[in-house]
Amino acid sequence: MPSNSSYDTNYPHDHSFTAPRPAPAPPVSSLGSSNSSPSPEGFIVPHIPPPNDPVRVIRDARGHWQLPHLSEMPLHVDHRRVNRLMKYRIHVNAKCSSCAELGVDCEFGETGLPCPPCNVLGVPYCTFADPDFFMENVGHTRNTFLYEECSALCTAVHNNQLPPSSFDREYTKAQSWFYSTAQGAITRFTLNHRATDGLALRGYRALASSATDTGLLTRFISLGFETHLHPLVLQVVTDRLQAIFLALLGIP
Ligand SMILES: [Zn+2]
Ligand SMILES: [Zn+2]
Repeated sequence: MPSNSSYDTNYPHDHSFTAPRPAPAPPVSSLGSSNSSPSPEGFIVPHIPPPNDPVRVIRDARGHWQLPHLSEMPLHVDHRRVNRLMKYRIHVNAKCSSCAELGVDCEFGETGLPCPPCNVLGVPYCTFADPDFFMENVGHTRNTFLYEECSALCTAVHNNQLPPSSFDREYTKAQSWFYSTAQGAITRFTLNHRATDGLALRGYRALASSATDTGLLTRFISLGFETHLHPLVLQVVTDRLQAIFLALLGIP
């Protein structure tokens, strides 16, 4: 980059990619096509999203999932950019699928954490803790950020503030800058998921195993059914009730 360049590559303006604006028009008509396109100046305008997009959930043959590795320089899980990315979602007012189905209020905290109703009702798969939901939001944020960066870089080249030969280097730098944030968010999502996965069900199981009052357990099942406790929770209590009756009958 020439010394008189005014194009800012240090990102002091801190793109607020947690609340991206609608994506600006792409600088050239390559978006949506499968190939990158050369610009009039000769540099290659990259395709967004990139081919073989790494921002996706990886699943093995048994259906186990894992998140991608995007950066060797992840930001700390508490970095403000990571915070923002964790709290971003495309549809800001959407309920999780369970709350939408039950018609109850829902609350989004951050990705990787189930919503409060799902927690209390023992719903095992809240949308907000879904890795696909997380990757969809990260990918959308990345695309919006890269549209803006690509557009700014093209403008800098057109205005002779950036040599065309430097376009690719600067674009790669912007992409790496985003992925360092995304990698921090991936670590945080994983921690969130490990801490909360199945937590409510384990809690109900512990409570049920401590109970010996069959009348109380029966009323719990009745009330739980009316209040839409998840069937897995009701099954845990039913199993406990059955175990107590079998013990009373002397059946091992
Ligand atoms: Zn919900
Ligand atoms: Zn939920």
